[in-house]
Amino acid sequence: MPHPGGHGPGGHYMTEEEKAAQPKITKALVKRVFSYLTPYWKQFVLVLVCIALSSVFGLLPSILTGKIIDEGLIGRDLRLLITYIVASLTVTLLSNLIGVAESYINTWIAQHITFDMRNQMFRHLQKMSQRFFTSNNQGDIITRMTSDISGVESVITNTFKSILSNTITLVFALAAMFQKNWILALLGIAVIPLFVLPTRKAGKTRWTITREAQEANDEVNGILNETLSVSGQLLVKLFGKEDEEYEKYENVNNRMIKLNIKERMAGRWFFVVLNTVTSIGPMLLYLVGGILIMQYNSDLTVGDITVMVALLGKTYMPVNSLLNIQVDWMRSMAMFTRVFEYFDMPVEIENPENPVIPKASTGEVEFSHVNFSYDGERQILKDVSFKLNSGKSIAIVGPSGSGKSTIINLIPRLYDVNSGSVTFDGVDVRELDLAFLRKNVGVVSQETYLFNGTIRDNLQYADPEATEEDMINALKKANIYDFVASQEKGLDTEVGNRGLKLSGGEKQRISIARVLLKDPALLIFDEATSALDSISESKIQEAIEPIIKERTSILIAHRLSTVLAADEILVVKDGEVVERGQHKKLVKAGGVYTELYTTQFNRADTLEDEELRLKEKVASSGYTEGERTWVDPEDPEDPGRLS
Ligand code: ATP
Repeated sequence: MPHPGGHGPGGHYMTEEEKAAQPKITKALVKRVFSYLTPYWKQFVLVLVCIALSSVFGLLPSILTGKIIDEGLIGRDLRLLITYIVASLTVTLLSNLIGVAESYINTWIAQHITFDMRNQMFRHLQKMSQRFFTSNNQGDIITRMTSDISGVESVITNTFKSILSNTITLVFALAAMFQKNWILALLGIAVIPLFVLPTRKAGKTRWTITREAQEANDEVNGILNETLSVSGQLLVKLFGKEDEEYEKYENVNNRMIKLNIKERMAGRWFFVVLNTVTSIGPMLLYLVGGILIMQYNSDLTVGDITVMVALLGKTYMPVNSLLNIQVDWMRSMAMFTRVFEYFDMPVEIENPENPVIPKASTGEVEFSHVNFSYDGERQILKDVSFKLNSGKSIAIVGPSGSGKSTIINLIPRLYDVNSGSVTFDGVDVRELDLAFLRKNVGVVSQETYLFNGTIRDNLQYADPEATEEDMINALKKANIYDFVASQEKGLDTEVGNRGLKLSGGEKQRISIARVLLKDPALLIFDEATSALDSISESKIQEAIEPIIKERTSILIAHRLSTVLAADEILVVKDGEVVERGQHKKLVKAGGVYTELYTTQFNRADTLEDEELRLKEKVASSGYTEGERTWVDPEDPEDPGRLS
């Protein structure tokens, strides 16, 4: 898509690409654009008045020049001469003062409109679904938010103003010229193409260079973005590509410099041509004016001719701008169209009109014949049904890509089901108050995200009112307090860009502490698939096990120990729940779970250790049989029976 483009003569030409991407300028679009002006119509009227006044005042000195010459100089009247000079200076000053007021009000309006638009856009984007963010390029989203909306601002400050002031100036100047002498006026109009044509040519060259320079600039940014990011820099270092990357950067940088010089120079040549050509017009007026006076005894005066020449000079810029305004207008509309395109994207997940807000949440979840697809084509979940009672826990296991994360995405309504239903606290999530739902569902995701800031900032994100004590408690429960306490700055330790100053295990435990501060009725824990060392792993394990016992939870499990900690196991394959039950039974069933157990969990030898550990836990916690929902009564070896 086009960039706002250079201003001045360079900005007036559309490339083929831009022409192809031309928006359809409909009445509705224009009406919509103007609807942003309506709240500021009073200021806008003021701007119009200012533009008209300053344009007219700007022309008066040219007309007064005629009087200065004819009545003051040639008429040899000193008093009149001084009066006209003072008048001329005064209107010039006035015109400029009004111009200042006009640009203040104009900028004020433009800034307020972009302020409104940016806020509206941010609000709208916040409401967009996860689907939007997973399928749109982040760069594109940011471009619409920043440069496209800035482009809109320049439409108001430049395009609108340019149309108005140029039209007014042109009309007044031509009227004044015709009033003086129609022959010279027509002659003046006839020379206009002489300077319009070179302007077009120079503009074209300049615009091409500008675009090339812009592309080089994008490329430079791309390289910077990739190589100076944390992960990019890591890749460069590990593959020893520093020199190669430097060379790449130097090349593009070099190209950009050359283009920049070329662009500046194109501007210089353009002025040389323009200055020469524009001086032809006045010479013609002097010549024809002289002939009229000398040969045809016209009543034209020297002053009149001077006025005509001055007025002609005043028409150059307006004519040029107006001839090119259509391109500016098109480009502006393209920008508006891009912005509106985002505004018009429907909000997929919305709070229902009459949301149900239960008094308290139990965290109970039920899936009933749920079918789901991300793109409407590939079915990801097929007829998934299960129920999680309050206080219980479920472990979801299955091969990679089987749909485990998808199942949990449906609970806090990151996506809505295609058919079937998901209920939370006995109410369909689509009828629940969204804020209530999201408050009561806590998710520790696989890829934990920490904001750049301190540990305290990150914890308080969950609960801004959390006291020091609350935070320490949560950190203790998440089994990370010792680490935080051992840091020099404690809670005020910086976590770095995206939390990258911390290890994967530390990050995950901090995010467990964060979710504990949120204190949700349902806790969803998406266990990291990435290999953590066994110490980190067991620390997370120690943190998570007591939490699971305390509250309703769903665990996406990749490790046997997590699986064993849950009350029930749900085995998912290709989006279907293929097996369910307790470990002992499933492992013997010889199905998907058995396969997972021997391959993915890859812990055949540690099962005995796990059971031993569990037995010890059961014994020390004084578990009774009744509390263990997953005891297999058929199986005399079930560890749950042995307490
Ligand atoms: P893993 O254990 O590897 O995390 P998973 O069982 O959690 O896998 P899901 O993340 O639920 O699997 O993905 C299930 C399927 O849905 C995959 O085939 C994946 O390609 C697809 N998928 C996941 N997210 C999206 C998305 N945002 N848009 C389209 N398809 C998606």
